[in-house]
Amino acid sequence: MKIDLHCHSRASDGSLTPTELVKRALLQQVSVLALTDHDTTAGLAEAKQAAAGTGLTLVDGVEISSSWRNWEIHIVGLGFDVDNQPLQQLLARQSAWRQQRAEQIEAKLVKRGVTGVLALASTFAGGGNIGRSHFAKAMVELGIVAKPQLAFDKYLGKGQCAYVGNQWVELAQAVDLINQAGGVSVLAHPSKYQLSNKWLRMLTADFVAAGGQAMETIHCQINPQLQQFLQQLAQEHQLLLSAGSDFHGPSRWLELGRGLHRPDQPGVWHHFGWTKESQ
Ligand code: AMP
Ligand code: MN
Ligand code: MN
Ligand code: MN
Repeated sequence: MKIDLHCHSRASDGSLTPTELVKRALLQQVSVLALTDHDTTAGLAEAKQAAAGTGLTLVDGVEISSSWRNWEIHIVGLGFDVDNQPLQQLLARQSAWRQQRAEQIEAKLVKRGVTGVLALASTFAGGGNIGRSHFAKAMVELGIVAKPQLAFDKYLGKGQCAYVGNQWVELAQAVDLINQAGGVSVLAHPSKYQLSNKWLRMLTADFVAAGGQAMETIHCQINPQLQQFLQQLAQEHQLLLSAGSDFHGPSRWLELGRGLHRPDQPGVWHHFGWTKESQ
C-alpha cells in the first residue's frame, strides 16, 4: 500500500489540476494521498470530489512557509479542519504576501534589466498562489536562463539579486495554528535546508517546543546517512515520521508514492487509515 503525504497542484506551483493529481495517484496505486499546496487549501474541494468513491483516502493538507531564525522552513499540516478561521486567515495573509513579494521580485529584476517575468509567471500561476518556481519557469521560457535551477542560482535564491527577504509567519505560530485547527504538524523535508546536524538539532528542538508532532524523513533522493540521522532525531523527540514525494508534476525523477519506504517507526500514516494489516 502506497501513501504520499506531500504533493502540489495548480492551486500553487504544481502542474496538474487536483483532479488530474487524484487520477494519477490512483494509477500509481497510492491509497492515501495528502494534497499540500503552498499556503492554500484552494485545491482540496476539487481533489476530494475527484477522490470520492474511488477508494483513495484524501487527507486535507497544506504546506506553510514559515520563518525560523532567518531561514525559510516549510511546515506541512495534515488532517486539520479546513474551515478553521484562524488558519484560513493566516493562509490569506501568506497568499497576499506571495503576491506582494512577486511584485518586489519583479521590481528587482527590472532594475537588472530583466523585464516581463512577472506577467508570464502570473500566467503560469493561473490564479493559484504564485511562487518562485513560476518565476524560474518564466525565466527559462523567456530565454533568460537555460534551466530553472539557474534562475535560483543567479536571481531568486537566498542572497541573489532578486531575492526578497521573507515575511512568513513564525514557525512556532504556524505549528500552533495547525494544531489548534485539529491537524498534525509536520516538519517538511528537513534534509533540504542545507542545515548542519547541529542546526537540525536546534530546529527540531524548537519545532517540538512549539508543539510539532512529526518529521518528514521519507522522500526519494534523500541521502541515507542524513535520513538515518533525522530518524534518530525524530525518535529522540518522539516525533512521528512522515512520507511525501513533494511531487509538482510529471518528471523523470519523481512520481507520486514512489520510493517512500516506511521503516518500522511510528508514522503519521497511522492517523490516516493505514495499519500493518492493510498493507
Ligand atoms: P516559494 O515558496 O515561492 O518561496 O518557493 C520555494 C520553492 O522554490 C521551494 O519549495 C523550492 O522548490 C524552490 N527553491 C527555493 N530555493 C531554491 C534553490 N536555491 N534552488 C532551487 N530551488 C529552490
Ligand atoms: Mn513548490
Ligand atoms: Mn517545501
Ligand atoms: Mn512541497
